[in-house]
Amino acid sequence: DARMICITGSNGKTTTTSLIYHIMRKAGIDAGLAGNIGHSLALQVAEAPHSTYVIELSSFQLDNMYKFRANVAVLLNITPDHLDRYDHSFAKYAAAKMRIAQNQRAGDYFIYSADDETIWSLLPSYRLPQRQLPFAARAAVAGSDGDAFLSRDGRFTAAVGDRSVEIDTRRMRIGGLHNAYNAMAAALAALAAGVAPDRIRRSIYAFAPVEHRLEPVRETDGVLWINDSKATNVDSVWYALESMKRPVVWIAGGTDKGNDYEELMEFVDEMEFDR
Ligand code: ADP
Repeated sequence: DARMICITGSNGKTTTTSLIYHIMRKAGIDAGLAGNIGHSLALQVAEAPHSTYVIELSSFQLDNMYKFRANVAVLLNITPDHLDRYDHSFAKYAAAKMRIAQNQRAGDYFIYSADDETIWSLLPSYRLPQRQLPFAARAAVAGSDGDAFLSRDGRFTAAVGDRSVEIDTRRMRIGGLHNAYNAMAAALAALAAGVAPDRIRRSIYAFAPVEHRLEPVRETDGVLWINDSKATNVDSVWYALESMKRPVVWIAGGTDKGNDYEELMEFVDEMEFDR
């Protein structure tokens, strides 16, 4: 009978899950943190149940999800990853991600990136009954139940029903366009869960990067070292590099999972830094 807030996507899951959990706890909600982030949901339910769970879900967990229902589901993005485990089929991998919305009912919320072409192209064929809350930075979106849009000046407004929160992403401690997306998704999820806008705003500004995710480690002899060892696929690398404003030593991670690196080549060639 607990409320389930579930997060998936190719990238940004742990950051967004942690941010939503942080907002919930700061708002005094009895929330548990579970799933792919490394804590067992079953164990918490058995030993010390909470009224709300914030759950990170990988595509592999979604593959085995049949009856479970998310009250609030967040789908951050779908870009190629783990294709070696899906017969090298992007369609199969994308279908696994879409399973997060599969058992939702009319009163539930589905939060998704309207900038993600894969999600956008798949949505019409799913005929989802739940309330939909799109977020975007490229073109303004309008959801009848709410939405979030990042404007060029770096501010976004997230609105659900008649409640809204405004955030200036330049004041956040987590940087880059990808974290603006993560924050929009988290703000919508927290509003959907009934958290007061001023509490959401305070918690988003206070949230520090999770370790191994674009985490500045140290600056020595004028060289900034960044630990981004959780950047393990092409899209996370793209967003990591997009957020760099100066030359750095950047430590990424992972093994080849059948990705196409071509799109990075052009981007790296064009990178310019303020020195
Ligand atoms: P996941 O849990 O999905 O692996 P993380 O939150 O651990 O995601 O972030 C992993 C890396 O992915 C980060 O270090 C960053 O480089 C990149 N990243 C984070 N959020 C996003 C996003 N919304 N879109 C694209 N890349 C992202």
